[in-house]
Amino acid sequence: MDKSTSVTEIKGVGEKTCDLLAKLNIRSVGDLLAAYPRDYETYGELAEISRLSPGQVCAVHAAVSGIPNEKRTGKLHVLNMKVADASGSLQLTFYNMPFLKKALKRGGFYIFRGMVQSRGTSRIMEQPKIFSMEDYQKLTGRLIPRYSLTKGLTDNAMQKYVKQALSLCEFETEYYSRELLEKNQLLSEREAVEIIHFPNDYESMIRARKRLVFDEFFTFLFLMRKNKVFSDKLENRYRMPETVDTARFLECLPFPLTEAQQKVWAEIKEDLNSPYCMNRLVQGDVGSGKTIVAVLALLTAAANGYQGALMAPTEVLAVQHYETILGYVQKYGLIFRPVLLTGSMNAREKREACALIASGEANLVIGTHALIQEKVQYRSLALVVTDEQHRFGVRQREYLAAKGNAPHILVMSATPIPRTLAIILYGDLHISVIDELPAERLPIKNCVVNTSWRPNAYKFITGEVEKGRQVYVICPQVEGDTESEGGLSLENVVDYTEKLRGTLPSVIRIAYLHGKMRPADKKRVMEAFAAHELDVLVSTTVIEVGINVPNATVMMVENAERFGLAQLHQLRGRVGRGEYQSYCIFVSGDEKEETMERLKILNKSNDGFFIASEDLKLRGPGDMFGIRQSGAFSFRMGDIYADAPVLQLASEAVELLLQKDPELEKPENAALQKHLSAAAANSVDFRSI
Ligand code: ADP
Ligand code: MG
Repeated sequence: MDKSTSVTEIKGVGEKTCDLLAKLNIRSVGDLLAAYPRDYETYGELAEISRLSPGQVCAVHAAVSGIPNEKRTGKLHVLNMKVADASGSLQLTFYNMPFLKKALKRGGFYIFRGMVQSRGTSRIMEQPKIFSMEDYQKLTGRLIPRYSLTKGLTDNAMQKYVKQALSLCEFETEYYSRELLEKNQLLSEREAVEIIHFPNDYESMIRARKRLVFDEFFTFLFLMRKNKVFSDKLENRYRMPETVDTARFLECLPFPLTEAQQKVWAEIKEDLNSPYCMNRLVQGDVGSGKTIVAVLALLTAAANGYQGALMAPTEVLAVQHYETILGYVQKYGLIFRPVLLTGSMNAREKREACALIASGEANLVIGTHALIQEKVQYRSLALVVTDEQHRFGVRQREYLAAKGNAPHILVMSATPIPRTLAIILYGDLHISVIDELPAERLPIKNCVVNTSWRPNAYKFITGEVEKGRQVYVICPQVEGDTESEGGLSLENVVDYTEKLRGTLPSVIRIAYLHGKMRPADKKRVMEAFAAHELDVLVSTTVIEVGINVPNATVMMVENAERFGLAQLHQLRGRVGRGEYQSYCIFVSGDEKEETMERLKILNKSNDGFFIASEDLKLRGPGDMFGIRQSGAFSFRMGDIYADAPVLQLASEAVELLLQKDPELEKPENAALQKHLSAAAANSVDFRSI
């Protein structure tokens, strides 16, 4: 068995499991081994009920003491029961688990593990996990891996499959030289993979992680530099002087550009008409008005007789850009003839769009990565703008070269990256910063609360909806993983939506959105929300990138403790985009003092980069699991902020290799050559969310 062997060779993986694994993009043994745990859990000693303190995850050994009480609100089934040990009693609440009423015997002892909350003077646990004493004892004192799951798969099952894969899979020879491993203090690949799934202790897990993160950065940087994705000093084949079109458009706009927008626009104008091809990153906090700047550049391309493309990471965002620009065309008579191209369009629609692009009739193409992946032939592509596409594909230049011929490149990002990191990640890209928000915005009001504050939040949300405003609620997970053994379940979009429907007044229109939905469904929901046919949108962080619904004024984030502050800041940017006062409610599922303090940094500043760096100061390397600092760069494990030192090491190692053996022809680099060319073949250039 090697990494390419199908997962069906693993004992216990039948057709059904195979389908479930495929949902997680796990098809081969290698995929399975690379499905690293997203977190680890430790199971502590049992606690006495009288000593439970709210805000902590605890386990108690207690007997069911009263008669369970059932109720139903809407589709939600709520089961309340009392349990007690010698020291006191505790109230438990279970949602949609009616079978527990029979399964838990009155007087029977069980272990209940969950987050302790207080309600008045009494203590409660919602949705605790249930164990037998024997099972619980097996778990104490270990680091238990928790995987990203899908309904029907459990952590236990994943552990079993991974264990087998580890014992049967033959790894290829280590591809880094001994020298490289020693210099960077890295474990071998095999060791790292074993340890990351089954760590003995915390320190070794951190070391394993370092190797895997290094790998990821190394591969990415090598391919990017090798393919000269961002290269300086390419000849400018499309000199574009400014035309009257941009000035006219600016006159029409109901607002003047901010000074920062003007400055960045001036830099772009200069690039477009300089001897060299543009390679520019525009950084600007959420709401700083990057779209207009992109439109100005695209307008210049169109006015000069060329085609421009605007590429977004999600369909929702692509459609939104398309509609914004179509609105400008209709209102201000711009010379754009825009066309939309996304993966979910049907074959006929795609064909029609492609015909317009090939003939040059369309001078602005807006879409997802379909823009360069599908068989699209451009007539005269001279400018490509990528919006919120943080992980630039390592082969993007190649694709683009095949489409146009070294077009200008403009990357727009709301993720603040310090210059040192940007240079590593984007090579020779020039950087412009829009460091100012349009003036008339009201600052967003924030609050950090615990779960007991929810009823107030719901009242507040109801009030805003009654005023005609709209609301986002963010949950960290897509669907319930109630089947996973152990651990605390996080709020999930699907169940939460049900819960809200049962809680909020029934006139309030609620729907959900998450990344696993079919693109057409996502689009439908997003359009309905934008058209104000929905009041509350319960969503995962898919909403994080670029969505613009100025009527939305409340953002409530559940399990806020699970997100990096930089990411929460991005989320917060979805509100406060219009004339109304906006609010953010960060609900922490964890009442620990440190967690609340960390979240409160969000109150102190509106500067994304300041927030990200403050966050890092507060957290050690071990706090990395479960929290992703930047939701934007889609590395599997590495986090550009938290792992900046490893990124630096990987960058130096890549430089060294490119100096010594750029074509990887030396015998000692044979294994590395094989590894990297496989990675290049598999490299996903544009991940859609
Ligand atoms: P982001 O930088 O997050 O992509 P957008 O480009 O979506 O921000 O802009 C957010 C909102 O601000 C849009 O509704 C846009 O029309 C508006 N906007 C952009 N520039 C200005 C400005 N100079 N003054 C007032 N509003 C502006
Ligand atoms: Mg934007």
